[in-house]
Formats: sequence, C-alpha cells, structure tokens
Amino acid sequence: MVNEMPYAACEALFARNHLKLAQNAYEKLDQYANLLISESAHQNVTAVRALPDIWVRHFLDSAYLAEIVKEGNVLDLGTGGGIPAIPLAILNPELRITMLDSELRKIEFCQYAVNEIGLTAKTVCGRAEEIARVSEYEAQFDCVVSRAMANGSVLTELAVRFLKVGGCLIAMKGRQYDPSVERFAEAASALGCCVEQETEYALEGEMKHLITVRKLSDTTLQYPRRYAKIKRSPL
Ligand code: SAH
Repeated sequence: MVNEMPYAACEALFARNHLKLAQNAYEKLDQYANLLISESAHQNVTAVRALPDIWVRHFLDSAYLAEIVKEGNVLDLGTGGGIPAIPLAILNPELRITMLDSELRKIEFCQYAVNEIGLTAKTVCGRAEEIARVSEYEAQFDCVVSRAMANGSVLTELAVRFLKVGGCLIAMKGRQYDPSVERFAEAASALGCCVEQETEYALEGEMKHLITVRKLSDTTLQYPRRYAKIKRSPL
C-alpha cells in the first residue's frame, strides 16, 4: 500500500507551520503512527485514527512543544497513547521522559511503542495525585507537560508536587482555551507557583495555547488533595 503521508508531505506540513522534520525522526513518527492505527483496531488508545489526522492533531502539536522543551527530566501527565511524550522523545532524544497514566492498557501500549521504536522513555501506571508523593517522582522533574487531561486548576494541582522548585508545567490547550474557565492563575497562586507565559499560535489554521506555570516554592503537604476533593472544590 502506498503511504499516504510520505516524507515529502510530512516535511512540507511541518515547514508550512515553521517546523523542521528530519528524515530519521520522520521514520520513527511514521512507525509510531502505524502502531497507533493498528492498536486502535483493537482498543481505543486515541480518538484520532486516520494517518493525516495523526500527523496534524498529534505530531504537529507535539513538534511545536518540542521546540520549547529541549532539555531535562520531563513528565507527561495523562499521556494516554503517548501524546506528547513519544513524539517529544523522537524529536528530542536527549530528553529524559517519563510517561504517566492511570489506565494500564494505555501504559502497556506506550511501553510497547517505546520498545518497538527503540526509545528510552520510562512508563508508569498510576494516579497522578498518588504517584506525586512517591519519593522516586516527587520534586524530580524540570518540566511537566500535559494535553487534554484536566482543566487548568486541576492540572496545576496534580502537577505541582512532581516539579523541582524552578521547574515548570507546560499545558497544551486547544482553541476553546478560556483563562476564566481554566483558572491556572488562581491555582498557581494557591500552590506557590505563577503563570509565567501564555503563548497563542496557529497550527494548520487552528488556534492553540501553551500555558507555562513556574513553581516558585516547595509544595505544602496538603497538595495534591484526594481526587474527589480536587474535583469537588477546585482551587
Ligand atoms: N495526553 C493524551 C491523552 C489525553 S486523555 C492526548 O492528548 O492524546 C487523558 C488521559 O489522562 C487519559 O488517558 C486518562 O487515563 C488520564 N488521566 C486522567 N486523570 C488521571 C490521573 N488523575 N492520573 C493519571 N492519569 C490520569
């Protein structure tokens, strides 16, 4: 079968969005796209199932983030089928990446993809609010990245204990991003953080937002609270 997304097409897609795509990164992303498609035939690891959609909605989005996250210890919170962690690991192989999700079948798929593609990312199955208190993960990360996992206030509370002081959460939000609904700023101030930057940009004509929340001081023992409590009374 002819690949409907050959290198030239993907390189052109990236170039018109001001991103570069090397041939060897393309080959690994293509391999990952095919793993996502064949896995989706058995179980729902991602809602996006057609090859061109995977390139635009998953890979382009992650590639933009890869321009910003270039070094350090990175956690992908609520990674699902591996977005943005796996493209990040492919595009920036020097990153030390950990992928966390509470659903075992998703994390098993991520580990399988990591092995097949030959990446070094680590996978962890568990709930963020619990894993954040395990010493191996507490205050260990320079950067927490996350897409489509929770609203800003909930996400900031779940992410904060994973971060080193001076580290940051980078939240990927889509066109519906609304600061007054997401409440990053309110949560940040309660959690010893500040909203450092909000970047708006377009990918294939669709507006995207990256919200950077910087951790300024140690996280007090009470955070993150139990999930039911976080949901019931968000910061
Ligand atoms: N980041 C991926 C998946 C988003 S779906 C993407 O953009 O495609 C959100 C994921 O977050 C789900 O896989 C869900 O299992 C996970 N999740 C939700 N709450 C969680 C929690 N408290 N701890 C760990 N994972 C969680």
